[in-house]
Amino acid sequence: MSEQTNPFESLQSQIDEASSHVDVDSDVLERLKHPERVLETNLTVELDDGSLERFKAFRSQFNGDRGPYKGGIRYHPGVSRDEVKALSGWMVYKCATVGIPYGGGKGGIIIDPDEYSATEIERLTRAFAKELRPMIGVDRDVPAPDVNTGQREMNWIKDTYETLENTTEPGVVTGKAPDSGGSEGRVEATGRSTVLAAREAFDYLDKDLEGATVAVQGYGNAGWIAAKLIHEMGATVVAASDSSGGIYNADGIDPVAAKDHKHETGSITGYDGAAEEITNEDVLTLDVDLLIPAALENAIDGDLAPDVQADVISEAANGPLTPEADEILADEDVLVIPDILANAGGVTVSYFEWVQNRQRFYWTEERVNEELEAIIVDAFADLVDTYEANDLRSFRTAAYVVAVQRVADAFEEAGTFP
Ligand code: GLU
Repeated sequence: MSEQTNPFESLQSQIDEASSHVDVDSDVLERLKHPERVLETNLTVELDDGSLERFKAFRSQFNGDRGPYKGGIRYHPGVSRDEVKALSGWMVYKCATVGIPYGGGKGGIIIDPDEYSATEIERLTRAFAKELRPMIGVDRDVPAPDVNTGQREMNWIKDTYETLENTTEPGVVTGKAPDSGGSEGRVEATGRSTVLAAREAFDYLDKDLEGATVAVQGYGNAGWIAAKLIHEMGATVVAASDSSGGIYNADGIDPVAAKDHKHETGSITGYDGAAEEITNEDVLTLDVDLLIPAALENAIDGDLAPDVQADVISEAANGPLTPEADEILADEDVLVIPDILANAGGVTVSYFEWVQNRQRFYWTEERVNEELEAIIVDAFADLVDTYEANDLRSFRTAAYVVAVQRVADAFEEAGTFP
């Protein structure tokens, strides 16, 4: 394992890679490589035994040139200031790639949530929401779920905000439960865009998705939904993993049964539909048609990349490939669908949720899925055009060329204040 790549440096090098193909002044480009502001705060929370514990939390507002800052909040022991900065920047370019009217932000708390009770997590979430209140708002900054957060936490953030503001403003946060103003289809949206993008990529390569083999690294919300949907499209999920290890079956794993097993036991390993247990690294290097990294950053680095055998990679996670891995895989002609397109379904349906909240008019799941599909299909076509017209090295660079140009245009059209 090479030394851990700093994700913020990865983001900056991805922008640099695109810079010679965009029509943007270098001083403007420099602006697009740094967050506008980062909140760092220490939250003091009372634990169930009456003692107090301090948790470090961040919210980075990277860029608001195209709309309110938008992005999730993650609870993870590996959260750091630079990770949150990188994730907030990826949100900017994600929203621009799919053309939804948002800037980018991200938040995180350094915590292993498995070590705490639900009431402790609630107090922590409400303490963070109170701290965030002056900087968030329906037209200012709109948080959402990310790693280890979901509807429950979003409902608490909405309730805390509305109580303190003495108002009703469900669009202040997205990813809520439907009864609290959430959208149909939001939970599935990240996995759905990951497989829609894969379907478009297979089509582009003239490859059949029916019967294709798939490995999924990470079996949280994004990973397991992607596994389920790709299975429904006729592909065979031969391997999957979570932090406990991996499972393999050449005849295919039933994604829903594997998820039920994980739900019951806490881990994917031990699932009786597996023929073999393998390592997380094995899952990433299997000879499959499609690999879906759906866990954390830096899953595939420069050391592991030469062993990757997949033909197509669709990034459900944010930043799963280091720039070094990207280069190696581009040389090997692996088609990598970048995170800022592949997993953009989450924020796209967050956008639909926000629109529905503002109109107080709610859509059917069918409508949500149709509108999402149209956005992903169009964005993929834009990437193909840019990739071919500029003879680019990778689809990632194509996505950054499209996205950086859009953000820079918005900045330049607005002019500089003051
Ligand atoms: N956390 C998700 C992401 O990384 C969703 C963000 C959102 O819905 O605002 O894209």
